[in-house]
Amino acid sequence: MASTVQTVLGPIPVDRLGLTLMHEHLRACYPGWEVDTTLVFDREREVARVAAKLAALKRFAVMSVVDPCPMEIGRDPAFMAEVSRRTGINIICTTGLYIEHGLPLAGFPPYFKTMREAQIQRVYTTELTQGIGPQRIRPGLIKCATGPHRIGKYEERALRAAARTALALDVRITTHTTAGSMGSEQLDIFLSEGMKPHHIVIGHSDINPDPAYHRSLMDRGCYVGFDTIGFSDTPPDQVRAENLVALARAGYEKQIMLSQDNVGCWMFAEEDLPQLIKTLESSPRRRYTYLFEEFVPGLLRAGVSADAIETMMVHNPRRYFAGDPL
Ligand SMILES: [Zn+2]
Repeated sequence: MASTVQTVLGPIPVDRLGLTLMHEHLRACYPGWEVDTTLVFDREREVARVAAKLAALKRFAVMSVVDPCPMEIGRDPAFMAEVSRRTGINIICTTGLYIEHGLPLAGFPPYFKTMREAQIQRVYTTELTQGIGPQRIRPGLIKCATGPHRIGKYEERALRAAARTALALDVRITTHTTAGSMGSEQLDIFLSEGMKPHHIVIGHSDINPDPAYHRSLMDRGCYVGFDTIGFSDTPPDQVRAENLVALARAGYEKQIMLSQDNVGCWMFAEEDLPQLIKTLESSPRRRYTYLFEEFVPGLLRAGVSADAIETMMVHNPRRYFAGDPL
């Protein structure tokens, strides 16, 4: 069991996490940005912009944010550290790889496709124990991801490598699922490697509108992420809210994490921003504070107790990082 959690500015006691958003991003990009020598990224301007957006969360007493950006999707721990210093918000980054099929961002790097589980495990272990980059910033957990409706060969290797690393180092796993699918198959892999279910968040489960899917995962003892709130209309937030009301009424609030999968900035030249991202980011719901300004008040009106909200946003993140049983 762990009494501390690693943030980008160093370890803190799990009791100091406080109100935590478990799945938001500061910066993201499509894999391959790093080979575009013409890309101009005004780092100083973007740090200031993202810090201002994140600082708005302090009005709602948010103390910590997990940014589970995979390694090839624009992850930048030094950027996160600078934003954390400016805002005073704890930021936790991850080691781990993204999906190999099914979304425009998919593109499991060929370099990692040459690796077997043990080699990927060595990479994850080195990042977790020795840190990333010249500043040696250490991740606090491992990210895993699968595409829609099947788990790819390379995705499975990365999941098994993550589980073995998590077990050896007593760290947690948080996942990306696509199209509300493959949550139980992810869990099968992690549990077959010997992980405890309460050390795992099956992320983006709220994209699946069927509460039977959420229950079937939580009945096996893991956490699920309702962590694409406001992200898109598939499903509408009304469905997310109805599911949460019913799940809280049935006592599942101890296994649900609330977040929004926001992205503070995209690494594209303004004129090159893909239409998909323009459309996504044009939604008025795409802001870090949406959850607190609109969605949670709606849950409270619908009968979810303030205690249940606190359980989901304060106690669950602390218990998960501590590794304590449900
Ligand atoms: Zn995400």
